[in-house]
Amino acid sequence: MRAAMQDAPLGDDVFSDDPSVNALQEKIAALLGFEAALFVPTGTQSNLCAILSHCQRGDEYIVGQMQHCYRWEGGGAAVFGSVQPQPLAHAADGSLPLADIEAAIKPDDAHFARSKLLALENTLGGKLIPLDYVQQATALAQRKGLARHLDGARLFNAAVAQAAQTGGDARAEARRIAQNFDSVSVCFSKGLGAPVGSALCGSREFIARAHRVRKMAGGGMRQAGVLAAAASYALDHHIDRLADDHALAQRLAAGLAGIDGVQVELPHTNIVFVDLTGPARDKSAGLLPHLAAQGIQATGLYRLRFVTHLDVDAAGVDRAVFAIRRYFGA
Ligand SMILES: *Cc1c(COP(=O)(O)O)cnc(C)c1O
Repeated sequence: MRAAMQDAPLGDDVFSDDPSVNALQEKIAALLGFEAALFVPTGTQSNLCAILSHCQRGDEYIVGQMQHCYRWEGGGAAVFGSVQPQPLAHAADGSLPLADIEAAIKPDDAHFARSKLLALENTLGGKLIPLDYVQQATALAQRKGLARHLDGARLFNAAVAQAAQTGGDARAEARRIAQNFDSVSVCFSKGLGAPVGSALCGSREFIARAHRVRKMAGGGMRQAGVLAAAASYALDHHIDRLADDHALAQRLAAGLAGIDGVQVELPHTNIVFVDLTGPARDKSAGLLPHLAAQGIQATGLYRLRFVTHLDVDAAGVDRAVFAIRRYFGA
């Protein structure tokens, strides 16, 4: 990846004149079956560009309580766009119940914000959202005249997990998910392992609007090809290997099974959630420092979150399992 960055031909992407950025945008748009794409510095900016391109001031987007573009982005769509979120509670599988979506869509009445957009996320907290649900929810939104955006920061994790179920190809599965949406955001800097960057995909006309928002958000970058080359390398080399991360997450979950007060959710992809109860909960405060001292990073307090990725190997997972078991005397 460093070598690809070193060798990247560069221009000025503020003038749409950087060959490496243009090549990346064409590659990701084609891969996911869209007309066009826009390279942006972060997933947060990508979602912001999407929401502000689908919605005007006084419109609203329907979204899940735990989705990144509602909960974890500083309320950007409301702050910068005066776009109101309509958050809904998730079902246990991460979906937003169809009846709740339908009930949240407002009639055209001066009392209400205008319902304009349904935003979904896949994977959500590492959970693969079932494809038939994605098809039903996006069909409902379309029937009701709403646009549909996917926060697919971790879309390729979803695609690899789905491919393991269907026996299909991960890229084909990514396209199958993406084709249900008017816009899709993907991160190169999460599981794919690039240092920086996301892409927003959509129609040519939509991406032209998003380009304007990116400029306003300060996301126009000049010799950005050095970053696009890393993202392009990640698309070429780091998609199929996500299956290794998923296997290591399973290994971590299996290794932590059976500790008193430690409840492990079986991971779909590369994120492992661990809930601490009873005696384990009482000891929770010292756990992360204990792990950090051994170079093992996690987040949370009573609900811990571990992520496997291309810098973590089986020996590292085993070291984490050993350290956690020892901490709890198990
Ligand atoms: C990380 C993440 C983002 C935001 O990405 P940044 O590049 O950190 O701004 C958006 N959505 C999801 C689902 C994410 O996991």
